[in-house]
Amino acid sequence: MSLKGTLYIVSAPSGAGKSSLINALLNISDRKQLQVSVSHTTRDPRPGEVNGEHYHFVDQAEFKGMIADNAFFEWAEVFGNFYGTSRLAIEDSLNQGIDIFLDIDWQGARQVKALMPEAKGIFILPPSREALEQRLYQRGQDSEETINKRMAQAKSEMSHYDEYDFLIINDDFDQALAEFDTIIKGQRLAQTRQSALHRNMISELLA
Ligand code: GDP
Ligand code: ADP
Ligand code: 5GP
Repeated sequence: MSLKGTLYIVSAPSGAGKSSLINALLNISDRKQLQVSVSHTTRDPRPGEVNGEHYHFVDQAEFKGMIADNAFFEWAEVFGNFYGTSRLAIEDSLNQGIDIFLDIDWQGARQVKALMPEAKGIFILPPSREALEQRLYQRGQDSEETINKRMAQAKSEMSHYDEYDFLIINDDFDQALAEFDTIIKGQRLAQTRQSALHRNMISELLA
């Protein structure tokens, strides 16, 4: 059965809980069915971030070389750094029927929707601006200057929420996680997908 996986674009303002929700969902999912794409970035690794696991950390020259080689499915400049999804990171897995998450910003999301209209967009909003700022501080990973830069960008990122297919409000984490899981599971029951998976059974039913 050569059924392709679904590509999910997940966006949110920094600190809304996107990475936490994606990681929590992967932990309760079958990795043969669901994976996250590892992006390339020119930003410095945060403490604890592992090259090849959280991101492929590259310098500007390497990133530019990949752009010139058409190695990116999409790329964008976010907060003064470059971020991109390589073709390699997604194509093999989708062809194997694995669903893939792209943790990317709205600029990348637009490029992906244009290239692959069947991709599904999920936007995550925090319950308030205060909660967003508190989470950025609580995460303890970014300097005050970086947090201020990200808070200043949050409104413009959030203004794109209506370009996505699904919207999750991450107030209570467990509820948001359950909603996230429901979207992915519901998508697997789409008629076109189920028809392809159960083609023989359905033809027997209708014979
Ligand atoms: P985070 O916001 O705390 O997750 O911080 P990051 O530095 O990991 O990501 C900063 C922004 O870059 C977020 O809005 C991500 O969605 C976005 N981003 C990460 N990887 C990619 C990518 O491959 N392509 C695009 N277009 N955006 C990305
Ligand atoms: P993002 O990837 O969107 O930048 P993170 O997943 O790193 O965000 O979350 C930012 C911080 O907020 C982390 O410290 C995380 O533990 C915390 N967090 C995430 N979701 C919630 C929630 N529903 N309630 C309280 N704190 C949360
Ligand atoms: P080149 O390979 O010619 O350096 O870059 C290819 C494309 O990526 C060009 O459209 C260029 O504008 C963009 N690009 C690559 N690196 C940078 C950069 O550091 N800053 C900006 N603004 N654009 C870049």
